[in-house]
Amino acid sequence: MKIFRPIAASCFALALVASAFGQKNSLRITAVDVEGGQATLFVAPTGQSLLIDTGWDKNNGRDADRIVAAAKMMGLSRIDTVLLTHYHDDHIGGVPQLAERFPIGAFLDHGERISSDPNDTSFLANYRKLLATGKYKHFVVKAGDKLPAPGFDAVAISSNGAVMDHDPGASSVRKAPNPLCANVKQPATDTQENGQSLGTMIRFAGLKIVDAGDLTSDREYSLVCPVNKLGQVDLLIVSHHGVDWSSSPVFINSIAPRVAIMDNGAHKGASTSVIDTIRKSPRMEALYQLHLAPPAGSPNPGKTPQQGPEHNVPEAFIANTSGTDGKNVVITISADGTMQVTNGRTGDTKQFARK
Ligand SMILES: [Zn+2]
Repeated sequence: MKIFRPIAASCFALALVASAFGQKNSLRITAVDVEGGQATLFVAPTGQSLLIDTGWDKNNGRDADRIVAAAKMMGLSRIDTVLLTHYHDDHIGGVPQLAERFPIGAFLDHGERISSDPNDTSFLANYRKLLATGKYKHFVVKAGDKLPAPGFDAVAISSNGAVMDHDPGASSVRKAPNPLCANVKQPATDTQENGQSLGTMIRFAGLKIVDAGDLTSDREYSLVCPVNKLGQVDLLIVSHHGVDWSSSPVFINSIAPRVAIMDNGAHKGASTSVIDTIRKSPRMEALYQLHLAPPAGSPNPGKTPQQGPEHNVPEAFIANTSGTDGKNVVITISADGTMQVTNGRTGDTKQFARK
């Protein structure tokens, strides 16, 4: 066995060099499996990095370990910017564990917690304690702000309950009414932290990438009705793990993503109605799920019950089936706008040409 080790090691090194060469000028994204929370890591061609959310607090730092492993795979020795979409435990819980394990430059958030949110506040207290050390830069971002994330052309589409007036990155302000809004009513205002989510739109190589945290359908409506302020989107990190409080048909059909990644867990999210809405949306080429959707009849935080396994995407597009955990989905966007998506379980890569 010994004799094979140097050969295997050098092959591995060559593979790393080859992949690093192929990634030059690319935007790389890893949707880290944090079991129904969110942790999405973006690395710009400059090597600067942006992590959206930090997963859960539990499990001896399991999620922080997974984020650090993904960061190292992407060649990082620190994360420049950590954006926290909102103050729920599946997004902010992992902050202290991550800070213990890996250098972080700055934190971005939406500001004050909404007082009507009934959930545990200890995760926010832990985050505030970390900020109080003075070791990190800290920015509160408003809707419509350019994101203070070096290396990224990004705008905050929503924050602290508001949505942007217009897209400051667009060549002109959109004014035409969105015909898809006819006969659609705005849902009741969400009064919890989900609706406060700091949502982001990143531009790269002529493509648009949206990650809106757990932004709810009422704010989604304000983003696309009466005017679609986002326009069409190429890559969507599906809001709220695929829970049906988000991803309303008017939102999904208006932004019409070509590729979507759903960060659901084995027992959370991936509502049947959301999977069906995304798969039927007008420009959809591929939906990936981090996990097989919970089985039919499972308790789920959404409004509608799970309706069975036929509502999942094919297994080739699912990173974790019943026997796996911790497999990620990795996306590379080349300078020419080609998207490559790799299922971390199978290693299979699919390519999506620019449109
Ligand atoms: Zn969440």
